[in-house]
Parts: sequence; structure tokens; C-alpha cells
Amino acid sequence: MKAFSGEPATPNAMNLKSEKQSLESLLELYDKEVAAKGIKPASGGHLGYIPGGGIYTSALADYLVDVTNEYVGINFSCPSGVAIEHVLLDWMKDLFGFPSSAVGNLASGGSIANLIALTAARDKHQVKNERIKNSVIYLSPQVHHCIQKALRIIGLEDVQISYIDLDDRSRINADILEERIKKDRQKGLYPFLVIGSAGTTDTGAIDPLDRIADISKKYGLWFHIDGAYGGFFILVDRIKAKFKGIERADSIVVDPHKGLFLPYGLGAVLVKDKEAVYHSHVYRANYMQDAVSQESPVHPADVSPELTKHFRSLRLWLPLQLHGIEPFKACLDEKLLLTHYFRDGLQALGFELGPDPDLSVSYFWYPAKDPNKFNKILLEALHRDGEVFLSSTIIEDRFVIRMAILSFRTKIETIDKAIKMIERALNDLIS
Ligand SMILES: *Cc1c(COP(=O)(O)O)cnc(C)c1O
Repeated sequence: MKAFSGEPATPNAMNLKSEKQSLESLLELYDKEVAAKGIKPASGGHLGYIPGGGIYTSALADYLVDVTNEYVGINFSCPSGVAIEHVLLDWMKDLFGFPSSAVGNLASGGSIANLIALTAARDKHQVKNERIKNSVIYLSPQVHHCIQKALRIIGLEDVQISYIDLDDRSRINADILEERIKKDRQKGLYPFLVIGSAGTTDTGAIDPLDRIADISKKYGLWFHIDGAYGGFFILVDRIKAKFKGIERADSIVVDPHKGLFLPYGLGAVLVKDKEAVYHSHVYRANYMQDAVSQESPVHPADVSPELTKHFRSLRLWLPLQLHGIEPFKACLDEKLLLTHYFRDGLQALGFELGPDPDLSVSYFWYPAKDPNKFNKILLEALHRDGEVFLSSTIIEDRFVIRMAILSFRTKIETIDKAIKMIERALNDLIS
């Protein structure tokens, strides 16, 4: 099975029909029009953007919760369903060294999870009215764009954003960060938030979390860590030390629909300061009075913009219970090994490589005469082939091809196929 087909949607194929359709014909249509076109995220050959996979037992959980249609926004309506969310959040608190007093939420993905955390940071520091334009947020230029998007949504478009220079492996330079904060304070500005990444989307880098935690503490900043892509690699014991300091953050985000291979639709946030989250999210309406009379355990609706929500905890709980954690650890470790294996294969073909990544995202380019043009044409050829799917990005003004290895179905055979595909396309281009 190919991982990508550039064939466009057939015009009007999915339109509603005036007469009833058979399930059989609709499944056929789904197969032909939906599953066969574009990127195939459930295939091991999806090595672009950030893949995940889509564990089958998670789909089974989705089926179950949709059939019983439990309501898990508040405790009253489904106490054990809400308890499952708390069990999973407690498991994550343990994993990332957060105290049990932290609050959390299972949201639809990393973007919403980041939005919740950044709203809490804003409210903790009361960044509103005149204070907005003098407040400073420190970011890596490699931060995921959902951060800038969230800042606009929560009314912080006019804060000052200070992009911190990176070291030669794409990590925030902590010395520069500290200098900037000091200077900004001297200027009478109000530094209040620094955002680190545990796995950047383009370069797979982990910022120096422990150093940033020191600096945040010293200057009283909220420290948020976006681990949507990379956070769950903490499960791999041999690289756990790279995450040192994550336990000192004020808030973190991780995406089970990336690092735990779930089907799309699950991102988690943990925040240490419950009151900061409650400020924006707790609202009591008269018609909810009997439903929310009990305040403990925390109502998921009090930690999220959502009230009615998909019962998404079961899609993580069921696979964890059925398979145990070991296969997840083994698959994550395998992705790290495959990243190095892929890089070695590319080097042998004459490609230049980005720096050794901390995790499983990396990039490469062929050193042709006009490299940007050549690599763009090469990527187009790879997309026409479609055996394996890769995407591209721009790093330091250079057009590069990017690999992101995170599907549990990606195996050594997949990488061998990718290398062969690239070799084929390269030979066509340089012959
Ligand atoms: C994917 C990603 C996000 C956004 O998460 P979604 O689940 O796509 O909303 C945020 N940050 C990082 C680092 C990511 O990789």
C-alpha cells in the first residue's frame, strides 16, 4: 500500500444524495474517495508532518463510547467516565513529575491543550488592559505555530514576543534568554512567560528545560513546555535524562494522538496552578445547579472551553489496559533507532543532514548546484511516487526534506523502502 496519493477529490462525489444509499455502496465510496487519496496516516509509510498511527483498540473504545454516548463534561452524569479521565491525568502527572494537586484536561489535541495552558499563564499574571503591551513572552523561533495562534485567540496579539537565538542544535540558548529577561526588566517591561519545547516540530530538539526552569524561577516567569510531539519519549528510559527539568514547568502539553499512536483527537494539558485555570474556565449557570453541586473530583468542563465533550479518555485507557505500557515504550525506542538508520542511509546516498536530533524528527537535502530548486523538484518526485510520504520545511533559508518517524507501524522495512524510493528519484534527476 502506498502512503500517499496526490489525486484530488472527485468533484461532488461526497454530495448528499436525495435517495437513500446502501451501507455497502457508502463503504465502497469511503474506500475509493476517502481512504485512497491524500496521506494515509494509518500506514507506516507516513513520515511527514507528525504522524501517529491510529491504534485499532483505540478505535474500538471510540465505538463503545459512541454507542453508549456517555456525557463526561461533569462528574454527575458519568462518574466513572470522569474517573477514567482523572486516572489518565494522574498517570501523566506521575510520568512528568507533576504533583497530584495539578489539574489537567484531555482535549481534542495539542492546539487546544496549549490554549488552555497559555490562558492560565495569562490569568495568573493578570496580563490584561494596559499591561498587555509591556508584557513579554520568550519563544524559540522553532516553537509550533499553534502557540502564536493561541496568543491571538486569547487577546495577547499585542504582547511583545521575544524570539531567542538557538544553539547549533536548534535549542534555546539559555544564556541569551537570561540576558534578554534582565534587559527587558531594566527597560520597565514585564516578562511573564517563557515557552520551551520538548521536541520541536521541525528539528526534533528538546530545549534545555532544567536551565530554563532555573531562569523562570529566578525571574518569576511562568514556564510552559510544549511536548505535543516529543513528550512521551520520556517513556524511553535511555533518553529520559534529556527531559530533566520538565517536572519544574508550570504547565505542559502532550499529544497521545502523536506519541502514543492514538487516532487523531486527543491532546493533554497539565497545569500546576488550579486557580489560574479556574479563573477563565469555571462558570456556573443556574440550569447546571444540581449537576455541579459536587466540586470534587474536578469537572472536566472546569478545565476546558468545552462543556459537552467526546468521551475521549476511553480511547487511551482501553489500549493501555489491553496492551500494557511496554509495547508503547518499545515502539518509541524503535522510532529513535530508525531515525538514525534513515540518516545513515541518506548519508550513504550523498545527502547532507541536519544536526543529530534529540528525537525522531530530522531533515536532509541534496547538495546540488541550486539546492533549493533541486530539493523541491526531488520532493515533488517523491510525492508522485508515494511509496512513503515525506514533507518539507525551510531551515535557515534552506529548503529541506523532513522526516518524522512516529507511527507505530513504521518498521525497518519502511525505511528501506524510503531509501530505495529516494535513490530511484535521485537517479532519475541526476542522470
Ligand atoms: C502537533 C503539534 C502541536 C499541535 O497539536 P495538534 O494536536 O495538532 O493540535 C503543537 N505543538 C507541537 C510541538 C506539535 O508537534
